Amino acid sequence: MTKKQEEKKRTSVERYMLKHELDKLESKKSFNMSTSLVTLYIPPGTRLSDVNAQLRDEYGTATNIKDKSTGKAVQSALSSIMSRIKTIPDSGENGLVIFCGITQNNKVEFFLISPPDPVGIKLYLCDYVFHIDHLKEMLESKQRYGLALIARGGATLATVQGSRLDIIREEESNVPGKHKMGGQSQARFQRLTEEAAQRWYGKVADIMNTVYLEDFPVEAIVVGGPALSKAEFLESKEIDYRLLEKVIGIYDIGYLGSVGIRELLDKAADKLSDFELVKERQLTQKFMEHLGKDTGLVTYGEKEVLKALEKAAVEIVLVSEDVDRVNMEIKCDGCDYTNIESVKSKDYNDFIKKLSDKKCSECGNSKLYIESESDLITELNEKAENTGATLEVISTDHEDGAMLYNAFGGIAAILRYKSYDDY
Ligand SMILES: [Zn+2]
Repeated sequence: MTKKQEEKKRTSVERYMLKHELDKLESKKSFNMSTSLVTLYIPPGTRLSDVNAQLRDEYGTATNIKDKSTGKAVQSALSSIMSRIKTIPDSGENGLVIFCGITQNNKVEFFLISPPDPVGIKLYLCDYVFHIDHLKEMLESKQRYGLALIARGGATLATVQGSRLDIIREEESNVPGKHKMGGQSQARFQRLTEEAAQRWYGKVADIMNTVYLEDFPVEAIVVGGPALSKAEFLESKEIDYRLLEKVIGIYDIGYLGSVGIRELLDKAADKLSDFELVKERQLTQKFMEHLGKDTGLVTYGEKEVLKALEKAAVEIVLVSEDVDRVNMEIKCDGCDYTNIESVKSKDYNDFIKKLSDKKCSECGNSKLYIESESDLITELNEKAENTGATLEVISTDHEDGAMLYNAFGGIAAILRYKSYDDY
């Protein structure tokens, strides 16, 4: 399987869930800021019995750690990992990543991650934090495409990677307009104009070579501009042949700048459909189109979308990645008190810390605990899967995604059929 296909099979929900998990792991610290949190990267093909043997050695070594409480904490992390590894059949297609230790919540926490890409390093590490960098790298989209607008009047160079669009360079030319006479003879003026245009195209080619081959290497490029300019430019000798080979599409675009880049993105959508950015824009635009035409085939808002899901009326749920909420069912040890509380995942650990100092509002008992927890996107995804709908997580890196979040609360749905009863 090629790199491209591997990336493609990862859905936006899977990416979101891993990202979410990593955010959570990133906020974990060892209970006493000692180097007692264990990070373990296991490459695919590793025998887990070998891993366990290594962990047994580390367990023995931990008795030599000077600070006794740190040594004990490392040992409890190790025994927790060893007992769990025994229940795992093998290291899997992509290997495994394990995090374990006594965190600021004062209990041993264990996390097992089946990574989206093969684990490329073998790593055993004790620190006061978990080391998640290698997993983070896997989340970054490796494919980058170039979008170039070239006209006599200027050029705009952009890149798209995952759901990000970046304008890298905007250049203005000093090629005179074709119809300006300026007192010179028509023939002389045209010749000077052509020379200026050639110099300009040469300059753009140099910039493109640097940007797309060195600074931001791309897999492919789509080029846009007024018909004549593109052709003139692509025929010029200055553009590096390695770059020319990467041109996968040429489109007629009337504008420069971000307006032109968006037009180019839309026109080249079929060529760039692997990109989250393109897919996400298409989905939000489809939603907007239904809304604008009042087809009755869309709804938005948390309650409305949940209702539509319950009726199995949903085809696609669109959720903004910024809709980040963990719902927790809090119960009291001493009475019947129960309550649902919601936090952003970055505030999760603070919330847990505060919970242990909090007293029950009913009976004054201080032993409140979390009965169950789940995050909103995961909940929505389960409900979608149960009714044959799909869920797409939409980033807010681009303006369509930002609009979904700001104008529609970040939760919307495209429906299978019109529902006539009032939601
Ligand atoms: Zn109580």
